[in-house]
Amino acid sequence: MSVDREGGRPGDGQAPAGVPVGARAAEGVPAAPQTKGEGPVASLDAGAGSAAAPGRRDEPAPVGAEPEPLIFAYSRPGRGGVRWPAPDVPVRPVEERVPAELLRRDPPALPEVAEVDLVRHYTRLSQMNHAVDTGFYPLGSCTMKYNPKVNERVAALPGFADLHPYVPDELAQGALRLMYDLERALCEIGGMARATLQPAAGAHGELTGILLIRAYHRSRGQGHRYKVIVPDSAHGTNPATAAMAGYKVVEVPSDARGGVDLKALEAVLDEDVAALMLTNPNTLGLFDENIHRIAEMVHAAGGLLYYDGANANAILGISRPGDMGFDVVHFNLHKTFSTPHGGGGPGAGPVGVKEELVPFLPAPLVERDPATGRFYLDHDRPQAIGRMRSFYGNFAVLVRAYAYIRALGAEGLRRVSEDAVLNANYVMRQLAGLYRLPYDRTCMHEFVLSASNLRERTGIRALDVAKRLLDFGIHPPTIYFPLIVEEALMIEPTETESKETLDRFVAVMRRIAREAEEEPDVVRQAPHTTPVGRLDEALAARRPVLRWRPDGEG
Ligand SMILES: *Cc1c(COP(=O)(O)O)cnc(C)c1O
Repeated sequence: MSVDREGGRPGDGQAPAGVPVGARAAEGVPAAPQTKGEGPVASLDAGAGSAAAPGRRDEPAPVGAEPEPLIFAYSRPGRGGVRWPAPDVPVRPVEERVPAELLRRDPPALPEVAEVDLVRHYTRLSQMNHAVDTGFYPLGSCTMKYNPKVNERVAALPGFADLHPYVPDELAQGALRLMYDLERALCEIGGMARATLQPAAGAHGELTGILLIRAYHRSRGQGHRYKVIVPDSAHGTNPATAAMAGYKVVEVPSDARGGVDLKALEAVLDEDVAALMLTNPNTLGLFDENIHRIAEMVHAAGGLLYYDGANANAILGISRPGDMGFDVVHFNLHKTFSTPHGGGGPGAGPVGVKEELVPFLPAPLVERDPATGRFYLDHDRPQAIGRMRSFYGNFAVLVRAYAYIRALGAEGLRRVSEDAVLNANYVMRQLAGLYRLPYDRTCMHEFVLSASNLRERTGIRALDVAKRLLDFGIHPPTIYFPLIVEEALMIEPTETESKETLDRFVAVMRRIAREAEEEPDVVRQAPHTTPVGRLDEALAARRPVLRWRPDGEG
């Protein structure tokens, strides 16, 4: 059966705003054909009304009455999905090739499953996940925007995808040129002199940047500087990075307007400070109006400024970290520049630097011979901090970013940020009366609400609101972050969503606020329409069961 997801597309005349996903699907839905005799098939409609009621033990159960079994449940001896071609080498028994003591006595308990059952099983599992391709995903500080599919095609072109990393420069001119041009584009966007494309993630870029800052200070006889200042609104990776690089992390509080508290900053600035790490706009979605003053103060103390540009969605073509006074910046290509993320990678966190830090960038950099116009990898970088990653970073991620930047051009990139900021402000204003708005200012690409008002009146918390959103096919916002806002709901709509989608989100948030007052148990027990409800998250994180064991192998 098809999965009812059209609730995520308002205005199509099928699902009125505010109807949970799957709420209608229960009506007259026949039991899905069973792939196997023994078990029902789970779908997103789990728990949706009477269709899900279990029958007698020997009868097929309707869709959603029982969870999707493991792949092993579909296994039958001798069944399979692969037809091996006849071997084109002489076949010798394995006993002749592998010493007896290394041979297992029984074959491994691998599932033996027909191709169609395999495909259906994993397709059903994939449909239990939320994805940008299936619904709105306003996960603050993560920029889960829709990424143009054409960039996937471009990254898969054989000339890029099949290129061997050891191919001589002469045979990789196109790839080298792409890296050269991408580096320049990112430097233009960030206001930097040069950049390394090696880091594989945002946090990896941060580590690269902090190591560059350390190398810079050491080269000037300032290696004693051991402190890195981080505001209390910072993303957790910032203090983690500084600590990992061996620095002492010094936290500064935010002021009443959500920016860095200048007095507090003044108090911690001394000759031991190596750097300040800052996100601007910060994780409250607010642009720090004192950024020039902050840069002056840090530089006057001999420190450098690190810009966490993981979410650059608010600044493209509008303001450049380099112009704000930052010396080092990383971007997350997997947030801002068209690589889908959320599944754990791959990503890329290129790091740009101002002129004084260029000598320390990791080798190789792509250079262009002015005489011949040919591109080459320059490994001759005696002051470089050393490699941050094998080869050239996650090249396919670079290709997507390049295609995205080239397709949009300067004006298109600026439009991305204008629309991202407009969308965030639109949603923020619609919700401001319903949920508490701790910092009532124009926001940038995201904003932070607090459910503390709901909690005081009804006991409903940010977590409950987040869980209830799932019933409407909406991914919850980031919650309980930044840490300085209680019951935080951090919402980032992104530029890729239509007004209809934003309006539906607002209508759903409104409905949940109403439910909190009138029928709080509906919210407290949500989600009702997902394959599983509330999980023991602590247990899942601490003692995850990640391995299937055959019967009797405990
Ligand atoms: C996502 C994010 C990071 C970390 O990026 P990863 O690629 O997940 O390592 C760092 N800072 C901010 C502000 C972020 O949003």
